[in-house]
Amino acid sequence: MNIYFDCDYTILAMDGSLRPGTQEVFSKLLEDGHKVFIWSGVGLRSDDMKRLNLMNLISGVFVKPIADFEIGLQRFGVDPRPDFVIDDHREIVEAFGGVHIEPYYFRSAEDGHMEDLYQAIAEYSDRGTSSHRGFKLASGSI
Ligand SMILES: [Mg+2]
Repeated sequence: MNIYFDCDYTILAMDGSLRPGTQEVFSKLLEDGHKVFIWSGVGLRSDDMKRLNLMNLISGVFVKPIADFEIGLQRFGVDPRPDFVIDDHREIVEAFGGVHIEPYYFRSAEDGHMEDLYQAIAEYSDRGTSSHRGFKLASGSI
């Protein structure tokens, strides 16, 4: 699958630090044959990804549409189409399918949401559904 991660409060805290487990989850997703993409509603976040040494795990960085999602994919040249998105905003998850994740505002070594997320993606990849409480099927197309 082409898996798209939001930046702020999904994998990055307010202070710019990386959510615990992010690097491990990206690595495991690659091992499982998925591709990881990064997008953000505030612009291209390549500099943040370089700063955090994540570029070798990422297949692309895009601007994320924050409304009119289908039109936005074309406007921002988002390609390939997202198969699964992880975001702290519910609407985009409902549009494309994925996991609406608990926001990560403050640096915390205790945050364990990334491991649950990995399980959800593995489950969805195997069975087409997930028991994760933030899981949403795509509302729009097939
Ligand atoms: Mg966000």
